[in-house]
Amino acid sequence: MDTLRMRVGHEWRMGTGSFDSVDPYTGETWARVAEASRADVDDAVSAARAAFDGGEWRRMTGRDRGRLMRRLAEEIDASADDLALAETRDNGKLLREMQGQIRALPAWYEYYAGLCDKIDGRVVDTGRPDYFGFVTREPVGVVAAVIPWNSPLLLLTWKLAPALAAGCTVVVKPSEQAPVSILRFAELFDRAGFPPGVFNTVSGLNREVGEWLVSHPKVDHVSFTGSEATGAAVARAASSHLAGVTLELGGKSANVVFPDADLEAAANGLIAGIFAAAGQTCIAGSRGLVHKDVYAEVVARVAERAATIKMGDPKHPDTEMGPICFRGQLDKIRGYVDGARADGAEVIGGGDRGMGGLFFEPTIVTNVTNDAAVCQDEIFGPVLGVLPFSDEQEAVDVANASRYGLAAGIWTADIRRAFRMTRALRVGTVWVNAYRTVNYAMPFGGVKSSGFGRENGLEGMSAYLVEKAVWIETTGATRDPFVLG
Ligand code: NAD
Repeated sequence: MDTLRMRVGHEWRMGTGSFDSVDPYTGETWARVAEASRADVDDAVSAARAAFDGGEWRRMTGRDRGRLMRRLAEEIDASADDLALAETRDNGKLLREMQGQIRALPAWYEYYAGLCDKIDGRVVDTGRPDYFGFVTREPVGVVAAVIPWNSPLLLLTWKLAPALAAGCTVVVKPSEQAPVSILRFAELFDRAGFPPGVFNTVSGLNREVGEWLVSHPKVDHVSFTGSEATGAAVARAASSHLAGVTLELGGKSANVVFPDADLEAAANGLIAGIFAAAGQTCIAGSRGLVHKDVYAEVVARVAERAATIKMGDPKHPDTEMGPICFRGQLDKIRGYVDGARADGAEVIGGGDRGMGGLFFEPTIVTNVTNDAAVCQDEIFGPVLGVLPFSDEQEAVDVANASRYGLAAGIWTADIRRAFRMTRALRVGTVWVNAYRTVNYAMPFGGVKSSGFGRENGLEGMSAYLVEKAVWIETTGATRDPFVLG
C-alpha cells in the first residue's frame, strides 16, 4: 500500500501519523496519507514565505519561470495516467473522465507559462509634469489553496498555474476524501527543477488543517474551492488577517430547453449536465427548465436514457456512472430524494439498482416547484429536478430564483433568444446548445453564493498580482512639506 508524505520546503514529512484513503468502489483502504499538525502547517507556510521573500524563485525572470512550468507540463504528461488512476481510486469518478482532465492539464501550465514574461506595467500620465509615474504588477505573495475532492488536480491547477506564472509560492491543502493525486503531483516539482518552498502540501483527515492554513497570518491570498458553507468560514478566517480571497463555491445551475431546440441534443445536454460524474460537479445542471410544449417529450427522453446508464467499476471503459465518493455524501443525496417524495414529488429512480455499496442511480424529480429543497439546495449527486415554464421571461425568473449563480445552459435554435438569455441570466458561465465545457482560456467563476473572483484565462492571473504605483520626482524642486502634493 502506498504511503503519501507531505512536501514542506525541501522535506518529505509524515506529520503526526496517517489516515486512510478509501476506494469508494471497493470499500478498501488503498493508500495511507500523512496527517499534518499545526506545526507542519506553520512550517509549510514558512517555507513558502522564505521561497517568496528571498529565495531563488523570487529572483528568477519570467522567462525562467515559464521554462520551469513547461517542464512541469512535460512531467504531468508523463505521469498523467498514474495520477488519473489515483483520482479514480480516491473519489470513484470515471477513469476516462479523470484521464481526460489530467491529460489536459499540461495545456494550462503551457498557457500560463506563456504569460510569465508578459506581466507588464504601464506608464501613467500623472497630470504633473514634474513627476514620472508608472505602475508595475508584482506577485501577491504566499497563496493558500484549499481543494475539494471531486476533481483535485484540475481544480488545483486553476489556482496553481496562474499563481506560479505570477511568481507566487503556494501551500495546498487537498481534500481529506481525495488527497493522493495532489501529494503525488508534488513529486513532479523536484523532477521539473523547481526550487524548494515554491510548492508545499499539507494534508489531514482533520478539517482543522484547512482552517490553520487559511487563518495563517503569513498567507497573503486564500484561493478556495468547495462548498458554500465552508467558503463562508474560509472568507471569515482569511479576513481575520486581511488576506485576499478567491471563492469557487457551489451551484444549482439551470439547463433551459426551449421548444425550438434540437430536442435530442437538449436531452443529451441534460444528461451530461447532471449524470456525468454522478452529479458530483459544481457545474451540475441540476435544475432542468423545460418549455411546457416539449416538457413531456424531453422528460421521457431523459428518463429513457437515464434508465440505460451503466453503473459499475469506474475503471471500466464502458461504465458511465461510478459510485458516490463517500457514505456521508450518499446519505445526503438519499435524504433529498426521500424528502421530495414525502412532499409529493414524482421520482423516477432514487435507488441503487441492487448495486449496493455507494451507488445511487440517475434520478429525475418532477411535480416540484422551484422553491422545493431539491431545486434550491446543491445536492451534489445524480438528481435532476425538472420544472416546466411557459415563456422566456418565466424561464429567466425561475433560473435566477436561486441563491447560486455558477452556470446555466440554454437550448434553442433562435440566436436572438440565445443573446437575450445570456444577458438575462445572473451566472458566471452560460453555454448555448452545449453544457459542461471548460478550458484554460475561458474565465470561470460564480456570482451570488457561488463565490467571487475568476479562475482561468487572462482574468485568472489577477488574484495573484498586485499593482504598485511608482512616482519619480524629475526636477529636484523643494516643496511645501505640509501640503499634499
Ligand atoms: P468542502 O467545502 O466540504 O471542503 C472543501 C475543502 O475545504 C476540503 O479540502 C476541506 O478539508 C476544506 N475545509 C473544510 N473546512 C475548512 C475550514 N473551516 N477552513 C478551511 N478549509 C476547510 O467541499 P467538498 O465537499 O470537498 O466539495 C464539494 C463542494 O465543492 C461542492 O459545494 C461543489 O460545488 C464545490 N465545488 C466548486 C467548484 C467551483 O469551481 N465553483 C468546483 C468543484 C467543487
